[in-house]
Amino acid sequence: MRQQIAAANWKMNLTYQQGEELLDKILKENISLGEHQQAVFAVPFPYLSMAHQKLSGKKNYATSAQNCYDQKAGAFTGEVSAEMLKSINIRYCVLGHSERREYFHESNQSLATRVKLCLDNGITPIFCCGETLSIREVGAQEGYVETQLMESLFHFSEEDIRKIVIAYEPIWAIGTGKTATVEQAQEMHAHIRAIIAKKYDQNAADSISILYGGSVKANNAKELFSSPDVDGGLVGGASLVAADFIAIIRALK
Ligand code: PEP
Repeated sequence: MRQQIAAANWKMNLTYQQGEELLDKILKENISLGEHQQAVFAVPFPYLSMAHQKLSGKKNYATSAQNCYDQKAGAFTGEVSAEMLKSINIRYCVLGHSERREYFHESNQSLATRVKLCLDNGITPIFCCGETLSIREVGAQEGYVETQLMESLFHFSEEDIRKIVIAYEPIWAIGTGKTATVEQAQEMHAHIRAIIAKKYDQNAADSISILYGGSVKANNAKELFSSPDVDGGLVGGASLVAADFIAIIRALK
């Protein structure tokens, strides 16, 4: 079975102490995860070591960065490299979140480089894609997401593509309380899987986890995750509340 993943994206929220408290509350639940299940916490850079220390002894719990830069090293003040993440044993890195694309102008090309640097350093990219409301309103969402995947991912080998987690996050659903319907999520996830199968093969497509992101909450996670092509979620707001994220982890298939 594909990995089913509940990934928390804290964004630029919580103090260090609040982050520690939140992780402690979630870990106190002792939710035992199956071989095919993962709980991943994408925390701000200064909290990575703390989160890693708390999570590393727990089976199938892992820490993620929220981004890394598209250069190996050098005079890039304020940036963090994939190699730095590797050096503190970080296993995942979110890339191409719509907020990074919009506010920090990250292009599909720059993201392709970031994905490569993560793979070179043994870090699993959680690659975000998804359309704006205006694109959905004219029915162009499938082509738009396909271009994002083509320009950032589809030049990788089959061996490499299998190492990537994809997160479909319709921008109109992020932080808005407006969730995609189960049908809309399933339809796009099936489309993503079909284009991976076309570009690579069905085995590769079947092995890649595709997460849904966009107002996943404690009360809708189970229904969303029950769709055959939805392998868990990337969760913003609801990941900041222990009880809510606990329910979301428990909703994994
Ligand atoms: C996100 O930031 O990736 C996200 C999906 O946010 P939210 O769950 O708050 O919509």
